[in-house]
Amino acid sequence: QDVIVIVDEAYIDFAGPSARELLPGYDNLLVVQTFSKSRSMAGVRIGFALGSPALIKALNDVKYAYNSYTMNLPSQIAGTQAVKDRAYFEETRAKIMTTRERSKKRFAELGFTFPDSMTNFILVTHERVPARAIFDALKKEQIYVRYFNAPRLDNSLRVSIGTDEEMDVLFRFLEQYVKEWKPAGNSE
Ligand SMILES: *Cc1c(COP(=O)(O)O)cnc(C)c1O
Repeated sequence: QDVIVIVDEAYIDFAGPSARELLPGYDNLLVVQTFSKSRSMAGVRIGFALGSPALIKALNDVKYAYNSYTMNLPSQIAGTQAVKDRAYFEETRAKIMTTRERSKKRFAELGFTFPDSMTNFILVTHERVPARAIFDALKKEQIYVRYFNAPRLDNSLRVSIGTDEEMDVLFRFLEQYVKEWKPAGNSE
């Protein structure tokens, strides 16, 4: 209770429930969310924080004292409208979640494993084919996923959920690719 706990809920709209439900019981809790993911506004640089009046006051005091470049007006107007348009928000996040669930099935059928995803991306690893090989092949097809050359991540690909059409292009390519892939230097 003598520290401030910040919960980063960048992906909460693709999952739930939010830690905001804990706010009434904890005045040292700050829940932060962004408009960059579920509200499709990456680059606009909007987010918000939910917390007790004392915590929010402390944030505002610091902001007005040290940060003379607070969020610009067009961004504030766009953000306000985005929150008001509940129907569009519900529609787009439902689409992502539906496509994500369908994608999990397709990845599993193609021999990929992944930690279960409650976000707008899936971190997949193939049972035979190295992630690096898949990444390079996809890039040649102009299909872009993320590859991290880092310990524990370098045999995985981070695939963001796109439209159904985009995911189908990916799966059509992967179907052929993993079927035909053979380790290099094995000519039998
Ligand atoms: C995207 C993201 C954020 C916030 O992104 P901004 O564009 O800076 O608002 C915060 N935390 C995590 C884990 C994220 O993935």
